[in-house]
Amino acid sequence: MTKKPVLQIFGLGGTIAMAPTETAGDGVLPSLSADDLIKAAPELSDIAQIHASTLSQKGSANLRFMEIAELCRRSAEQNCDGIVVTQGTDTMEETSFLASLLYRGKRPLVFTGAMRSPTQPGADGRANLMAASLTALSSEAPHVSVVMNDEIHHPYYVMKAHTSNVAAFQSPVRGPIGQIAENTVYMHPVKPSPVFDVPVKFAPIALLSAVLDDDGNLFDTILSAGYAGLVVEGFGAGHVSEPIAEKLANIAKQIPVILSSRVRAGSVFERTYGYRGAEIDLLNKGLVPAGRLSGRKARILLSLILGLGLPDWRQEFVRVVKQV
Ligand code: ASP
Repeated sequence: MTKKPVLQIFGLGGTIAMAPTETAGDGVLPSLSADDLIKAAPELSDIAQIHASTLSQKGSANLRFMEIAELCRRSAEQNCDGIVVTQGTDTMEETSFLASLLYRGKRPLVFTGAMRSPTQPGADGRANLMAASLTALSSEAPHVSVVMNDEIHHPYYVMKAHTSNVAAFQSPVRGPIGQIAENTVYMHPVKPSPVFDVPVKFAPIALLSAVLDDDGNLFDTILSAGYAGLVVEGFGAGHVSEPIAEKLANIAKQIPVILSSRVRAGSVFERTYGYRGAEIDLLNKGLVPAGRLSGRKARILLSLILGLGLPDWRQEFVRVVKQV
């Protein structure tokens, strides 16, 4: 008999681990352990020997960068063939991206969750857990990925694009990097991406969006609020109003400012629009383009790079952006 591969499952909470409270109407809470999840998915034992650990039981809005760093450290130490992390879907696009920058393990690390809690009709957690496990054990699995609704997504591009649909996860810039069908994983090849050390402290980075007819008073608070950097989600390909462009020029003299877009897909431009507040003006004012990285992901990257105190933050930032 051939030995089954070893799969490590780490549970962090989220809808996949939520159950109704005693009082009807009070809503579901993350109360199921990683062991509960595997008991509810007996098919997992057909494909692997499972080890399960519950690291936290929370809504994913409460996860912290350092918890993801610790998850990556523990994952890298596991003597196993693949790792699945179950967590809330609300922040999975951010946690998976951070993990892709920190995880030094050799075994695939796969994030999954559920859009419907286990007692809802059509609950998707069990199927997602199986698909994520198959991916984590596949020889072609990428270093870090997100598996939801039988699709494999790259952490650089993936985003939650619907509040309730089971097909909520999308990678608008490039589409999924693989699929799972009939228990088989089909992968498109992906390039390896840079990995960083864990900083003693992540730098606090603000994220602000351009909105129409805004006086920009919030931009005036960034420096006094103690932020070490700012990511601005501009209109379109990276544009802001003239008054906000002036405010950004002043902020960029003192802290790093990244230019991303509030549009969900496409690159920030670098050399097309010439009016004040458009990308050429903003880049001349010292802003650094986020390429195809979303503002949320750019914020995490900048927080890590500034937290590490690397000598040339700009060069490090651009090195990752070029991979996207
Ligand atoms: N609705 C969320 C989920 O899908 C809650 C969370 O992110 O924890 O799990």
